[in-house]
Amino acid sequence: MKNRYTQDKVASAEILRLLLQKMAAHPAAFTPFAYALWYEFITGINPPLSKAVNALLDNKQQLTDDLVHELYASHIADGNVEAEQAFKQNMQKVLENLARFTEATGDEAGKFNAGLQKHGERLSRGLDADSLQGLVGEIAQETAVMRSSVDSLQDKLQESKSEVERLQQELMSARSEALLDPLTGVFNRRGFEAQMRNLAANPEMQGKQVSFLMLDIDFFKKINDTYGHLFGDKVIRVIAEVLKAQVKGQDSVARLGGEEFAVILPDTPLQGAKVVAEHIRQLIERGKIRRMDKDESVGGITVSIGIAGCDIGADWLATLGQSDEALYVSKQGGRNRSTIYTPPQD
Ligand code: GH3
Ligand code: MG
Ligand code: MG
Repeated sequence: MKNRYTQDKVASAEILRLLLQKMAAHPAAFTPFAYALWYEFITGINPPLSKAVNALLDNKQQLTDDLVHELYASHIADGNVEAEQAFKQNMQKVLENLARFTEATGDEAGKFNAGLQKHGERLSRGLDADSLQGLVGEIAQETAVMRSSVDSLQDKLQESKSEVERLQQELMSARSEALLDPLTGVFNRRGFEAQMRNLAANPEMQGKQVSFLMLDIDFFKKINDTYGHLFGDKVIRVIAEVLKAQVKGQDSVARLGGEEFAVILPDTPLQGAKVVAEHIRQLIERGKIRRMDKDESVGGITVSIGIAGCDIGADWLATLGQSDEALYVSKQGGRNRSTIYTPPQD
């Protein structure tokens, strides 16, 4: 099972402090279930759980052991493991049904075969016209039985094929969670790579340009040191939200590292990418983010951006590296700016 908790010791200590307050305010025991529940609630890494808990809290509901256990089972127990288990069980059922049907058809085919042999023997002994007539009738009848048995096997095969395809689809969507970053819900690096593969395979994208924005929060270490890691995490989430809101259509956002994001802009030339980058940069510069336990908002948070582009079928990993180099130029130039990559002159 992958580790869904990325907070380090300092951040988790802050979470612990906050969650003890929450736990103490409810009748449920201090079990690992309650701990996990409040942990995920406070960090916001599990939006469906947060929604469920918020709905209960809005109703002034007290969290009892039963409620905690219910919430844990439906929102925290590893969904992927359950999905794979269900897939295996359902597949087994499909295969068992199919085997039973094939066997029945096999029995029918065996009888049919034996019948044919018997009729063959009778024929070789020579028959009068009436007996021959009777024999033809019997063969026609047996053939009809066999045919309906084969037909229904074929129907069953078709049904099983659709069922297997449906199960496969279900499993794939359960697995797709592994392409998302749990803190922000945007793509993680695997998701980013999958998006690039999809783009390269899309016939409509052939011959088009893709631009990348590589974005890194300025002086983030200082933000963590001043306001705490938990606030740092919130900054990361808010910036992910800004990025998601500012890109559209086929564009995608990924969190590639701690406080580093990449945006894929398909079918976008460098100048267009620069406009998007500047828009994002200015929005973040002007924004304020509310602290969690104090009635105070923090402004002055900025990002630096690097921009590079290439043909969609080209070596995009090299281009992503170029956007990283351009990001470095933005940092060196004083941060809170965006730079289009320029190849070194020699
Ligand atoms: P620069 O302007 O040069 O980018 O300075 P910086 O302080 O942002 O850069 P640096 O790479 O030195 O620091 C990044 C810090 O981000 C270090 C690490 O503690 C913090 N960090 C990384 N991932 C996370 C995370 O998921 N949450 C929080 N709160 N902090 C993180
Ligand atoms: Mg960084
Ligand atoms: Mg940084």
